[in-house]
Amino acid sequence: MSSVVTRFAPSPTGFMHVGGVRTALYAWLFAKKRGGTFILRIEDTDKEREVAGSIPHIIESLRWLGIEWDEGVDAGGPHAPYLQSERLDLYRSYAKRLIEAGYAYADPYTEEELGALREAAEAARRPFLFREHRPETTLPWDGTKPLRFRVKDVRRTVWRDLVRGELSAGEEALDDFILMKSDGYPTYNFAHVVDDIEMGVTHVMRGEEFISSTPKFLSLYEALGKAPPAYATMPVILGPDGKKKLSKRDGAKDLLEYRSEGYLPEALVNYLALLGWNPGTEQEFFTRDELIAAFDLARVQVAGARFDDAKLLSMNHYWMRQLSDERYLELLAAPAYDARTLAKITHLLKERARTFTEARAMLGGELGCFFTAPEPTAGTLRAKEPQDRPLPAETALKSLLAAVRSLPQDLSPEAVKEALMPLADAEEAKGKGGRGAMLWPLRYALSGQERSPDPFTLIALLGADESVSRIEKAISLLAD
Ligand code: GLU
Repeated sequence: MSSVVTRFAPSPTGFMHVGGVRTALYAWLFAKKRGGTFILRIEDTDKEREVAGSIPHIIESLRWLGIEWDEGVDAGGPHAPYLQSERLDLYRSYAKRLIEAGYAYADPYTEEELGALREAAEAARRPFLFREHRPETTLPWDGTKPLRFRVKDVRRTVWRDLVRGELSAGEEALDDFILMKSDGYPTYNFAHVVDDIEMGVTHVMRGEEFISSTPKFLSLYEALGKAPPAYATMPVILGPDGKKKLSKRDGAKDLLEYRSEGYLPEALVNYLALLGWNPGTEQEFFTRDELIAAFDLARVQVAGARFDDAKLLSMNHYWMRQLSDERYLELLAAPAYDARTLAKITHLLKERARTFTEARAMLGGELGCFFTAPEPTAGTLRAKEPQDRPLPAETALKSLLAAVRSLPQDLSPEAVKEALMPLADAEEAKGKGGRGAMLWPLRYALSGQERSPDPFTLIALLGADESVSRIEKAISLLAD
């Protein structure tokens, strides 16, 4: 069997979003699994829809995710160039071949005439089919008029989709579609077929919006005497409600925004791979290599797949925790914070932060007390004093201070807890809320934050001396 060739063929009409990336990912995984070739081709034949900057953006997005192409734009290869606008001669030569074989002709109508024909069909409640209005005689094609395909064999089309099984469409799906536009560019319908033939593409993965045109593509392959590739239709990506297609409003955003929000490419690849495919096992976390080994088109689902932000976030948290501390700090990129302290609290960041953006925010928030002295307020220190008996925060802190002063040199959170917890437990034994009345002012005195790590961890990391001075400061604040 000849080897597998897949391609990702985006049009440069805007930023890369999750849907496009998932198609690229599946095409890449499939090729890699079969030891095949993955191509990146840019389909820039619709100059009106082109958005400046899209091509570098596509390239950067794929590279960031580690979806590397064997051939294509920015990489070269045996079928270069890979930008359709640089392949116009090729499409013209295919167009000539089709004209010579009687499979293409110049469209003689003006736009107004065509509009009138369309309106007439609409008024008669019939589908408009160009082939019903083919000119009697055809003019030679000089490039100023569109060139149309002449469909010769009008019949029902039946084909097999690797994901959806047998698909079919009636005769109305076949028509004389435009091959070359009057601006000199080929249509998508024509150019992608020529390129898939020229580049030896064996498997095409794309969205379901292309199903309705597939009979046209197949008729063109037949006219060119070439076998079509295998088609695999990707499941739709649904928004959080699981009903409508994912829209910008539900977070269908620029893929590179995930990078600036502190997501890891490992997490996006893992998440997107499972968005419409399942391994048939319980395994949830996959490296790229594990995905390549496990991926199988037979397990791509037909039904739409729901995009779940919370799932992506928790997957990102998982992959952040897998990083070595060195790599974690490198990606955290927080040069304004003391490196030794950062190294000491990396495990706390790993436990808490689901993105690097969250992690950075914590350095100035719930973990900020490792970098700057807290500024507690008396009111908050007293916030957990029991209502039903006297246990002032000041008294609580004084008894804890004595215990902190006599802590052993070598502190671990466990050792600190073992030394301090009995004091809190003893208060709890006297009445409900005693434990909180002891530990709340302690934690808050140390951190100055209503949310922070537990007081034992704080003491262990801050050290006994610094902890003592923070507790003393809080006590004097309460005494004022
Ligand atoms: N250029 C097309 C698009 O971006 C590609 C479709 C295909 O994969 O054939 O939608």
